[in-house]
Amino acid sequence: MKAVVYKGNGQIVLEERPMPEIIDDRDAIVKVTLTTICSSDIHIKHGAVPRAVPGTILGHEFVGKVIEVGGAVKKVKPGDRVAVNVETFCGECYFCKRGFVNNCTDEHGGWALGCSIDGGQAEYARIPFADNGLTVIPDHVTDEQALFNGDILSTGYWAAKIGEIKPADTVAVIGAGPAGLCTMLCARLYTPAKIIAIDTDEYRLNLAKEKGLADLTLVPGRDDLEKRIKEVTEGRGADTVFEAAGGKDTFQTAWKIARPNAVVVVVAMYEEPQMLPLPDMYGKNLVFKTGGVDGSYCQEIMDLTSCGKLDAGFLITHRCGLNHIMEAYDVFENKRDHVIKYAVTPQLND
Ligand SMILES: [Zn+2]
Ligand SMILES: [Zn+2]
Repeated sequence: MKAVVYKGNGQIVLEERPMPEIIDDRDAIVKVTLTTICSSDIHIKHGAVPRAVPGTILGHEFVGKVIEVGGAVKKVKPGDRVAVNVETFCGECYFCKRGFVNNCTDEHGGWALGCSIDGGQAEYARIPFADNGLTVIPDHVTDEQALFNGDILSTGYWAAKIGEIKPADTVAVIGAGPAGLCTMLCARLYTPAKIIAIDTDEYRLNLAKEKGLADLTLVPGRDDLEKRIKEVTEGRGADTVFEAAGGKDTFQTAWKIARPNAVVVVVAMYEEPQMLPLPDMYGKNLVFKTGGVDGSYCQEIMDLTSCGKLDAGFLITHRCGLNHIMEAYDVFENKRDHVIKYAVTPQLND
């Protein structure tokens, strides 16, 4: 089968790989019907993910059809359409029992798929702990609507949940890329008064506005962010700030635009260390929450998608077959052609 493989040293290639096989009775084999490229794949390519193992098939955000299950799998069966969770987790360890599945203590616990074990930018993929890692897609939900369930939509959902948003709050989201847009989408579930989207890319900001995700859009450099946000919050600052950009000074922006006692959620994945200038923020009494998503709400997200409350399908701006995924990488990495997300179909030949 064809698969995208991380070779180390900034190299990824599309090559021929053997079909995955069941190696544990909790595994399932999934025929990938739609997959995508995530900015984390680009971080791996850049060598910014130390846990990434060269030789691994990339891809941790995909949907497919179960074709085979191990003897201990109970929840899914061959023929089921499923969304795949970015995280592999045992469901039994200290962290899993508390919902902190990103820190599952299993050897392959946490983000392993497409990082340290073979992922889903391929025709087929093996999913360990299939009962935990797969969410059945209802018939009326399309692959495109379900594609982001286990990764960026899970990220936005997790971020919004830990953001402690109260009704009528003002929420600021830095970054209107896929993760930022999903964060806005999920923050809406908590009925904030307004969502302020901040990005240097006006196309993405317009999309956020057009989709009803942002009430106010601000561009660093063009707008004085601190001043504008104070103007719309009676001088206070944002009640919750989500940093979903991971840019050079976006972390600094995040704490500066927060009101005293605000929650600042760091969703972004940085390629460089960040400064926490404690003397400058002394007395602001901020609460910082950081991390990689705990993908423990995939079923809840699927239920919300199923009833029409959460649909991230609009993020798909580009489509292609797996044969053209290297061109897609190039467009995605260089943010060309106003790309937000690709939908890549392994069975499509062009
Ligand atoms: Zn990802
Ligand atoms: Zn665990």
